[in-house]
Amino acid sequence: MQLLTLLTPKNMSNFDSVVVGGGLIGASIAYGLARSGQRVAMFDEVDNAIRAARGNFGLIWVQGKGANNPYYATWTRQSAKQWPDFSRELKELTGIDLAFEQNGGFDFCLNEVEFADRQIIMEKMTVDSDDEFSYEMLNNSQLKQVLPNIGPAVIGASFSKWDGHVNPLYLLKALHKAFKQLGGKLYINPITDLQHQGKAFQVSTATTNYACEKVILAAGFSNKTLAPKVGLNVPVYPQRGEILVTEKVKPFLHHPTGYVRQTQDGGLLLGDSHEDVGFDEGTNINEIQQIAKRAITIFPYLDSVKIIRAWSSLRILTRDGLPIYDHSESCPGAYALSSHSGVTLAAVHALDVASCIAKGDSLSPSLTCFSAKRFDV
Ligand SMILES: Cc1cc2nc3c(=O)[nH]c(=O)nc-3n(C[C@H](O)[C@H](O)[C@H](O)COP(=O)(O)OP(=O)(O)OC[C@H]3O[C@@H](n4cnc5c(N)ncnc54)[C@H](O)[C@@H]3O)c2cc1C
Repeated sequence: MQLLTLLTPKNMSNFDSVVVGGGLIGASIAYGLARSGQRVAMFDEVDNAIRAARGNFGLIWVQGKGANNPYYATWTRQSAKQWPDFSRELKELTGIDLAFEQNGGFDFCLNEVEFADRQIIMEKMTVDSDDEFSYEMLNNSQLKQVLPNIGPAVIGASFSKWDGHVNPLYLLKALHKAFKQLGGKLYINPITDLQHQGKAFQVSTATTNYACEKVILAAGFSNKTLAPKVGLNVPVYPQRGEILVTEKVKPFLHHPTGYVRQTQDGGLLLGDSHEDVGFDEGTNINEIQQIAKRAITIFPYLDSVKIIRAWSSLRILTRDGLPIYDHSESCPGAYALSSHSGVTLAAVHALDVASCIAKGDSLSPSLTCFSAKRFDV
């Protein structure tokens, strides 16, 4: 800390770590760093900024994740295992109940080809995990016993006990609250520049400079422009997803699914569209119709349920769908993080990644394969 104090002019605040971005990844890391005793500042943008953290579906989803990358599958399961304690810890600290449930999820298949393909994927995940991962394939009549409202057009579904869901807005709120309770400072002021100076960093907003030993880039799409300033590369692109919300109905769906989930207050979220429309956050009536149609095919009962709201949000994607975790070689102490599973991975981000960063270590060797260097080839 001595070096940092020397570098820090009198009018400049200094911190052990600065986290750029207060979305799901930034807030998870900032909370984890504060929990490790670090003096942390988190910088975020104003309410109307582009932010996946406030527009997502809230799944803690394991089945299918990492089917082609066993490291990603293991990492996802590690997070799912830590979720029960993680949500309990946040509730104890903040009083916010995240509406977390982990009683297994269904992924529906609407034709025989989908069903056969799904079984291959699930089997591969089981073999790759040395049987730690498990699943069941259910046909329509088996599904009916668990989900009596299932439609006849659903051929079947995969079920995995590992899947769960949470209210993602409560998660974000709890992370921010817990972070502040542990002494973290939140600034609603975007970072405009970063400089590596000796063994420290100067992080700047339009009005103020801050000094820190470590800087963690978790700024969604802004990582792309900020990362090169500290010798990193974060090639991410937007993919739009739309979500519909229905009126509240009597609880009938007690498990999360890939397309439909019922929240604790009875409303249903319908989703899973994928559109390549750049940074356009508008909604598209054709997509809305497709989402609604598929939901009615799965649960015909929904035909009479009203949709009350729809929104779109942009996924922060890499070309291979895997996360980016990097520690800069040219500017040690600078990290960049990006993932399109910020809800699912919140537990490992807060507990595992943050504690490596707090110690000033490189990220765990099992995360090396998620370096953006893989895109240099
Ligand atoms: C439709 C949809 C459905 C999804 N469903 C799920 C799901 O079911 N389960 C799941 O695990 N994940 C889901 N996700 C993904 C999840 O929401 C993201 O992985 C997660 O929000 C990414 O977190 P992030 O912190 O990288 O980005 P964001 O949450 O977008 O946060 C980035 C933050 O950085 C801030 N920022 C940007 N530039 C700056 C700057 N210069 N200075 C300071 N701050 C800055 C932004 O304002 C923002 O707050 C979904 C995403 C979408 C779009």
